[in-house]
Amino acid sequence: MTGAPIVAFDGVTKTFPDGTRALTGVSFGVGAGEFCVVLGPSGSGKSTLLRTVNGLTAPDAGAVEICGVAVSPRTLNDLRRRVAMIYQQYALVERATVAQNIIAGAVAGMPAWRALIGLFPARDRRKACELLAAVGLEPAHLSRRVGELSGGQQQRVGIARAFMSDPQVILADEPVASLDPQTSRDIMGLLRRQARERGVTVLCSLHQMDLAAEFADRIVALLQGEVVFDGAPAALTAAAKTLIYTAHGARPAETALAS
Ligand code: ADP
Repeated sequence: MTGAPIVAFDGVTKTFPDGTRALTGVSFGVGAGEFCVVLGPSGSGKSTLLRTVNGLTAPDAGAVEICGVAVSPRTLNDLRRRVAMIYQQYALVERATVAQNIIAGAVAGMPAWRALIGLFPARDRRKACELLAAVGLEPAHLSRRVGELSGGQQQRVGIARAFMSDPQVILADEPVASLDPQTSRDIMGLLRRQARERGVTVLCSLHQMDLAAEFADRIVALLQGEVVFDGAPAALTAAAKTLIYTAHGARPAETALAS
């Protein structure tokens, strides 16, 4: 990483009230424009880590910074404008159209009803059309209801919506976990390409090592809430893979990384 990190985790630790320790002393920085995959099996703490960035989970020790500003209740509203989310289950309004769903990303947190009644300047409508093309959908899709689209097409809408607010950071929480292998690769390629073109920093959680190795600039592997590998995919040697699969008593088989 060169330059100051866009997202920095410093000793982030989280124990839930029921005593579950989800994260222990997680420290790393994500550089500007980096596509960083947080890799780990189900339950390793990936979602909890991503949720500390947009303030949905508060660490009980350590700190998270975005562009040098600590995430806290006081800074959250401002910081949330810089961060967009992409979800495993898309989190779209299925009865609304593709156009309405994309344009709802114009202002982070804008309720879908604002989009439904069309309170948007022409500039936002133009941008939504550009993003529609950028994610590989056709103009004819604009007026289609999202619920009628395939999963892969819905995630394309989710990606377009995320870029609508010109975020500095995109958090993608298992964005392809509900898709077949080929569609997963298409969607990962699309997300990486769009992020690169726009200089957006991506923090993407995945449980599939092959996808992480193919698409990440950088992999941070978590096991039971601790960082067990941090480096480029090329540095993920057989020894490192074995460590990721077997550290902390995890099952050694490759399937250990499946949810
Ligand atoms: P991942 O995203 O890698 O599947 P999570 O961050 O969802 O992992 O979960 C990490 C650990 O924290 C798991 O043991 C999970 O059961 C636990 N956990 C997550 N959310 C809660 C919660 N709200 N209350 C208690 N335990 C939780």
